[in-house]
Amino acid sequence: MKNIIRYNSANTFFRNKFGDKIIKIALDGGFTCPNRDGKLSYGGCIFCSEKGSGDFAGDRNNTIEEQFEINKKKMNQKWKTGKYIAYFQAFTNTYAPFEYLKDLFTRASNLDNVVGIFIATRPDCISEEIVQFLSKLNEKVYICIELGFQTSKKDSIKLINRCYENIVFENCVKMLNKYNIDIIVHTILGLPYETKEDMLNTIKYVSSFHISGIKLQLLHIIENTSLHKLYNNKPFKILSLEEYVDIVVSCIEILPPNVVIHRLTGDGHKNTLIEPKWSLNKKVVLNSINKEFINRDTFQGKFFYKN
Ligand code: SF4
Repeated sequence: MKNIIRYNSANTFFRNKFGDKIIKIALDGGFTCPNRDGKLSYGGCIFCSEKGSGDFAGDRNNTIEEQFEINKKKMNQKWKTGKYIAYFQAFTNTYAPFEYLKDLFTRASNLDNVVGIFIATRPDCISEEIVQFLSKLNEKVYICIELGFQTSKKDSIKLINRCYENIVFENCVKMLNKYNIDIIVHTILGLPYETKEDMLNTIKYVSSFHISGIKLQLLHIIENTSLHKLYNNKPFKILSLEEYVDIVVSCIEILPPNVVIHRLTGDGHKNTLIEPKWSLNKKVVLNSINKEFINRDTFQGKFFYKN
């Protein structure tokens, strides 16, 4: 039987765009975050790990050139050949003076066989100056900005201590659109007290903007985070595998068909992941999602309606 493509995967997107396997090399640019250094708050988002949600990045005591070589060797044990994306994931990767950012991203663009730079950040931390610079760099290597959004629900924004309003996200998206910079939006499914409807509302909201990709991240409770404390003091419902699979497929059904899905679950570490433990078996999660697509005979965008 012919294989039907059920959703727009990142692997297929990268193969079509670069004609090769793409290997992401996580780099630590030495940043902090306004939500952790006191500018906005000291606590950070409640789910954020000690390493600023960048647990696979290199060692910030090394230069990015050194980190790139070290991490490349590790990744090459799994994938022998391919092209690379320099991935700045830990903390807020545009939270520094312009000259620092300009130097860092220029150096990243010069790394051997790097065809793209992915920059994870907050929408309240990107100036037009850096966006203008990145739009020039975009002519040399593919630039993509990953915005930590998580949810559109007002109560949840407060609960997770995101410390910016949805309007800030909207303005940032418009500015990045103006300079033709691709955007990936990071969302979290399974936040405390959110219903399936709340999560679908977030996806509908995000889908109303011009974005190129999305990450659907299952909520992970990581040891020693504020979320872990909240869970210990006042346990909230954790999604089961079956519930997650149902929700994630429903989210994909209402996404625009062209949006690339860069994440379908998450990479927890067995030593620090408190819940949900079932997510540690990523193969089972992905297989269950694929089966659900077949059982429902559905696909990305089936219920996407443009307003
Ligand atoms: S904005 Fe990002 S780095 Fe900062 S606290 Fe939230 S998740 Fe962590």
